[in-house]
Amino acid sequence: MTTLSRRVASLKPSITVALNNRAKALQASGVDVLGFAAGEPDFDTPQPVKQAAIDALLAGQTKYMPTLGDMPTRDAIAKKLTEENHIPGLTGSHIAIGAGGKHVLFTSIHCLFDTTCPGDRQWEMLLPVPAWVSYAPICELAGGKVVEMDTTPDTGFRITPEQLRKAINPNSRVLVLNSPSNPCGTMYTEADLRALAKVVHETRDIAPDLVILTDEIYEKIVYGGVPHFSIGSVPEVAERTLTLNGMSKAYAMTGWRIGYAAMPGDFGKTFINAMGTLQGQMSTNITSFTYAAIREALSNKAVAAEVETMRQAFATRAKLIMGRLAEIPGVTCVEPQGAFYVFPDVSGLFGRTTPKGVKIDSALALSEALLDEAHVAFVPGEDFGGCGKNHIRISFACSEAQINGGMDRFAKFVDSLR
Ligand code: PMP
Ligand code: GLU
Repeated sequence: MTTLSRRVASLKPSITVALNNRAKALQASGVDVLGFAAGEPDFDTPQPVKQAAIDALLAGQTKYMPTLGDMPTRDAIAKKLTEENHIPGLTGSHIAIGAGGKHVLFTSIHCLFDTTCPGDRQWEMLLPVPAWVSYAPICELAGGKVVEMDTTPDTGFRITPEQLRKAINPNSRVLVLNSPSNPCGTMYTEADLRALAKVVHETRDIAPDLVILTDEIYEKIVYGGVPHFSIGSVPEVAERTLTLNGMSKAYAMTGWRIGYAAMPGDFGKTFINAMGTLQGQMSTNITSFTYAAIREALSNKAVAAEVETMRQAFATRAKLIMGRLAEIPGVTCVEPQGAFYVFPDVSGLFGRTTPKGVKIDSALALSEALLDEAHVAFVPGEDFGGCGKNHIRISFACSEAQINGGMDRFAKFVDSLR
C-alpha cells in the first residue's frame, strides 16, 4: 500500500463542511434532522444575478478567461471597494478573483508563507480566536505557525491593541481580522480598527513583513448598531492590507464559488499577480459566464434591495434565537452584531449524562449526542480555537420555523440531561 503526502495526511478536515455533509446525508436517508451547521443563507440568489449569468452563457461566454478575471469585472470590484469601503489606490489590476473566499484565502496564504525561511525563521499567523476553522489549517499547510490570540465573551471576543502589540515580533507575517466574525458574530468598531492599525504601523520596524488579512465576507450582514468599517481604508496600513471578500454570503451565492482579494499599491499589484501565477497552476479562471453575474450583483439596485431584505431577516432571526437560548439553563450567549451565527457557552452542561447514557464532557460530545439523540446539527467549538472548546456554533441562516423547531429540541434535550 502506498501513502499520502504527510502534509495532506495531517491536514485537519473542515468540521463545518463535514457536519453539514453529515446532516445532509442523514436527511437523505430519511432522518428528520434539523441542520444548523451550514454557514450559508437559505435565500435564493437574486433573480437578476442569475439572469446575467444565463445571458452570458447563451451569448457564448464559455471559453477560458484571463486567470484573475476579465478587466471589466476586476474594475467593478475595485470601484465597489473604493466607493463603499473607501480603500485608496485600487484599480482592476489590484484585484484577484478566485473560486470562493476560501480559494482566495488559500492562494493568498500560499503567497505569504514558506515551508522554509532564511535563517531558520518560521513565519507566524496572528490569529484572534475563536476563529473560522479554515485559517489555521491553511496556514499550517503553507508552512506557517499559528499564534492564537485569545479572546473571551467578556471582551466581546475582540483582541485589544495591547494584546496585538505584545504578540508582534519579527516573524509576524499575517494578522487575520474577521469582522463581522464567524463564529462569534463579533464586530470591531471603526475606533477599534484604527487602534489596531496604529499598532501595526508603529511596529513596522519590528515586523516589516506583516500583512493584515481582513476577511470581510459578512460585511453586508450587520444588525447590532456597529457599522462595518474596512481597515484597508486607513492610509498608514492600506498598502499592507489584503481585503478578502466574496459573493457567497451577501448575495446568497455560496454554490457559485466566487471570492476576491484586493491590495493597493505597487507591492499590492505584485502580490495580486503572484496570486495569479499560483492560480494559473491550480484552477485558472473561475467559471466564465459568472463574471457578468458579479457585475450585476454589484451594480443592480433591485439586488441591493434584496440584500437589505435578507439583512433584516437575519436581524429578526438573531433576536429570536437569542430569546430562545436565554430560556435554556446552563447556556449563556453573547449577542451577535453581524454574520448569522451564535456561539453559546455550553460548559454549564458538561458533566451531565444524556438519556442514552452518554457523558457530556466536551462541546464535541454534546454536538454528537444532540445529533444522535435529538436530531439537531450544531458545530462543536473546539476547532475554532481558544475558548471555543466551551462553545457550540449555531447557524441561524434558516427559517424562523426551523429555529423554533431546533430550539424546542435543544431545550427538551437539555431538560432530559441527568
Ligand atoms: N471567510 C469566512 C469567515 C467564512 O465563514 C467563509 C464561509 N465559508 C468564507 C470565508 C469563505 O466562503 P466562500 O468560500 O463560500 O466564499
Ligand atoms: N463558512 C461556512 C461555515 O463556516 C461554510 C463552510 C465552510 O466553508 O467552512 O460554515
